[in-house]
Amino acid sequence: MKISVVFLILPLFAGAAKAADCGPDKLGTSRIVEVGTQGGLAVGFKTYPKEIPLADHEVILTFDDGPEVATTPQILEALAAECVRVTFFDIGRKVEATPELARREAAEGHNVAHHTFTHPQPTLRYMGDREARADILRGMIAVERIVYGADFSAGEPKDLSGLKLHAPFFRFPGFADTADLKSWFAANNVGIFSTDLWASDWIEMTPQVELNLIMARLEAVKRGMILLHDNHQWTADMLPHFLRELKLRGYHVVHMVAGPGPGVTVDAPPGWVSETERTIDRLKPRLTKPPPPG
Ligand SMILES: [Zn+2]
Repeated sequence: MKISVVFLILPLFAGAAKAADCGPDKLGTSRIVEVGTQGGLAVGFKTYPKEIPLADHEVILTFDDGPEVATTPQILEALAAECVRVTFFDIGRKVEATPELARREAAEGHNVAHHTFTHPQPTLRYMGDREARADILRGMIAVERIVYGADFSAGEPKDLSGLKLHAPFFRFPGFADTADLKSWFAANNVGIFSTDLWASDWIEMTPQVELNLIMARLEAVKRGMILLHDNHQWTADMLPHFLRELKLRGYHVVHMVAGPGPGVTVDAPPGWVSETERTIDRLKPRLTKPPPPG
């Protein structure tokens, strides 16, 4: 009996202490930016020549490929400890598998945005358009139903036009967009998010190496949208140190929320080229290669 009482009291106490402790020593969330997606939006210099306007030393934090039971709770705790709000681009299949964790992301003030249902390999670009749309729609329906409580008891929408998204933000797996899908999103007022910076954390590395890498990349440009993956242990272990480092070096976290009207953007510097297009292109030959014998 004694043990169960301790278990009951401790989480309540920890939660209350955390919520009350968002003073100036914390990184915090410095401002909210309303991001309009009417008529479509495509931002993130890695893929598109547009970005959400940010001041010097402002960053937007985004996390892909969760929710993941093994690592996302640790990510959420690190964010709560520094009073930071972010956007999760969740995989619908994982949201269905871990509904409580997906709901916790939204309950703690974060966006739960969209990243397909299956995270298809090797990306949506190399699927048929109908299949790709079905995968995207299924993912969005899962998030809206499970995270935001949408009622589809009268029937699930057959197209994006029938869906009112709480966060009309989508990230293409592997940044592999297509002209048809981009038009479809624009016609349905869904914004497409690439990123400005990443930690390359799809590759396993130590938290220290990852921290050094992302800080060096950030210090070179001093602002931008950052992509991390909440399904990797090394990123979960790195995150508290990264948030501390942002605070020490005078960075501010901006949280984006869905806004009215068309999105306000800034243009990429002259000479901009898509960095992700080369990577996506490298996936193509793998597809056309004949299967190994046997
Ligand atoms: Zn992904």
